[in-house]
Amino acid sequence: MKGGIKNNGVIPSCFTSKAIEEKFSKLGVNNEISLILHLPLRYEDETYLCQISDMPGGEAVQIEGVIVSNEVMYRPKRQLVLQVEDDSGTIFIRFLNFYGSQIKAYSIGTRVRLLGAPRPGFFGTEMVHPKCHVVNEKAPLPDSLTPVYPTTAGLSQVIIRKLVRKVLIDKARIDNFSETIPVKTLKHYRLNGFMDSIMLLHQPTPDVPAHLLEERTHPAWSRIKFDELLAQQLSMRLHYQQRYKNLAPTLLDKKKLTTELLKSLPFNLTGAQEKTFSEISQDLSKPYPMQRLLQGDVGSGKTIVAALAALQAIENGYQVAFMAPTEILAEQHYQKLSNWFKSIFGSLGISIAWLSGSQKKVQRTAALSAIATGNAMLVVGTHALFQEQVEFNKLGLAVIDEQHRFGVHQRLALRMKCTKKGMVTHQLMMSATPIPRTLSMSYYADLDVSVLDEQPPGRTDVVTKLFTDTRREEVIVRIKEACCAGKQAYWVCPLIEESEVLQLKTALDTYERLSIIFADLKVGLLHGKLPPHEKSSVMDLFKQGAIQLLVATTVIEVGVDVPNASLMVIEHAERMGLSQLHQLRGRVGRGVDASVCILLYKEPLSEIARRRLRIIFEHNDGFEISRQDLLLRGPGEFLGVRQSGVPMLRFADPEKDEKLLKDARDVAEEMLCDYPKLAQLHLQRWLGEKNNYLKV
Ligand code: ADP
Ligand code: MG
Repeated sequence: MKGGIKNNGVIPSCFTSKAIEEKFSKLGVNNEISLILHLPLRYEDETYLCQISDMPGGEAVQIEGVIVSNEVMYRPKRQLVLQVEDDSGTIFIRFLNFYGSQIKAYSIGTRVRLLGAPRPGFFGTEMVHPKCHVVNEKAPLPDSLTPVYPTTAGLSQVIIRKLVRKVLIDKARIDNFSETIPVKTLKHYRLNGFMDSIMLLHQPTPDVPAHLLEERTHPAWSRIKFDELLAQQLSMRLHYQQRYKNLAPTLLDKKKLTTELLKSLPFNLTGAQEKTFSEISQDLSKPYPMQRLLQGDVGSGKTIVAALAALQAIENGYQVAFMAPTEILAEQHYQKLSNWFKSIFGSLGISIAWLSGSQKKVQRTAALSAIATGNAMLVVGTHALFQEQVEFNKLGLAVIDEQHRFGVHQRLALRMKCTKKGMVTHQLMMSATPIPRTLSMSYYADLDVSVLDEQPPGRTDVVTKLFTDTRREEVIVRIKEACCAGKQAYWVCPLIEESEVLQLKTALDTYERLSIIFADLKVGLLHGKLPPHEKSSVMDLFKQGAIQLLVATTVIEVGVDVPNASLMVIEHAERMGLSQLHQLRGRVGRGVDASVCILLYKEPLSEIARRRLRIIFEHNDGFEISRQDLLLRGPGEFLGVRQSGVPMLRFADPEKDEKLLKDARDVAEEMLCDYPKLAQLHLQRWLGEKNNYLKV
């Protein structure tokens, strides 16, 4: 690096001590570039002085005057009260916390500059705890707004400002801060220069419209957000390209087994299913690893699409791992796939293996050996599939259901398992949490995405009802009537986040209570702590209609599929997240009967709970619910990506800055092609070490 500036996380010359360096590092600032990218949250205007008699009410203003009285008062509590006077009038200043040294420093006759919001007080107009410092007469005023930075305990604004200023003065000799975007591109997209934007945001002159700074819509802000989005796009696109440097088995669409399966199904594929399968099928037939996300709302029929993909791999002689995040769901897949593949596999003499964490050793050993010899061409299971001991004979495709439940690392562990030397497995991920388009463009730019945007025919929208839990009796009567008339219902127990034990107890209590109330019905209980064989026997009884009311914890949230169930009650719905509510509700509305979902909630509702319930009440479409959820929570929480290593956005918001995001995507393509060096510099500037995500 030129210019004598140390980088690479080494203490830059600007950090004056180890202690300060540590504080900055808490803020993610560890070199000069990250320091200048540490941008202000807001600004204070100290560029002019207001006359005391002219102060507008409520707004923060700066005044200057001489202290004319100084008194420590004890009523209503201990406080330091000053009176300050300028040519136009006087004002009271109150400090509720103060040091002895301040009483002295603010002695009568001292000239002070004060920044604060005046308001009517007991004695007259007053400022409480204004920013206050002693000045000489005619001390010059700053000529730019005063930035207020995000900070951490023990790191004052004064220190941050001083360091930023020092680095910005030196900028001329710092090669590191040069422009990373070609001039032509800047012009075309009407973007401001990088350094101009940085300077403006750290030291805006008073003529810069305050609201543009505050709303972060000033062109300088746009440039910074653009840069951030560009770095994200570059990183994702590089990752995407990297994929094409790896080899994967070529799995051609021989249309033999897939046609056989399609013929045996009691339904025809929807147009969306055909389209998504053909996208997947083409990927599989290429010699590099597929990494495709199949997105589709709850009930859109993702499983059959994955089953077809599995057959395409199998007819090329490769094994398939089919994975789900919970035992109940994995088991359902196992049953469903066994059913679909029974006759096909029977005639080929191959089998399906089942792997789960809780299975008996004998069964596990048998499964492992069938997997190792290649007798089992399809392996269905939970995370148990990731474990070291699982040796595939020839793994070609991994299907991961509800991918957002698995971490990036788990997904990777599976990808490495392709047993053919030097090859990577194809991956098909599925998610029923539809990701809004802007987010998917931003956080999933490294994946290919197929969308199932059509429900199988005959689905009915679920009618959602909201009841306060004081109306529980009414709900019980309804359920009783419906079940006596041959319908089936779920009763979902409240979620108790703090304690699993308590959650289990609540489920048991609910089950007991409801068993008494519904004495003439068959009531079942399903929760996560049941031994696996009991779980599956309860599910079987419910599927067969031998259980009419199924009391369950949120274990039924993912994937459970019993078309005859048309009623659902969710207790304490106000405690659940939107995607959870949507997934739970998706368990009904799968058959011919009109379905109802009753959300019981307990007053008083928090503001956010009220908004969630309103959204779930008003919308049935998963994409819309996701969009609203994203607006409510922001992308970090929505995706749960904080832990996953995907670079987070600090400044830009994919939803609000959609135009910038699209431009950044185009520019990223262009730069990777035509200006790879600048692209590298840009990535280094914005992601530094975080760029490791590339290696994932
Ligand atoms: P999800 O996308 O939520 O995983 P599933 O794959 O579990 O959905 O499918 C939901 C239900 O719809 C299943 O019972 C499945 O057999 C059925 N199904 C899937 N595709 C069709 C179709 N084209 N026509 C009718 N039913 C279908
Ligand atoms: Mg599913």
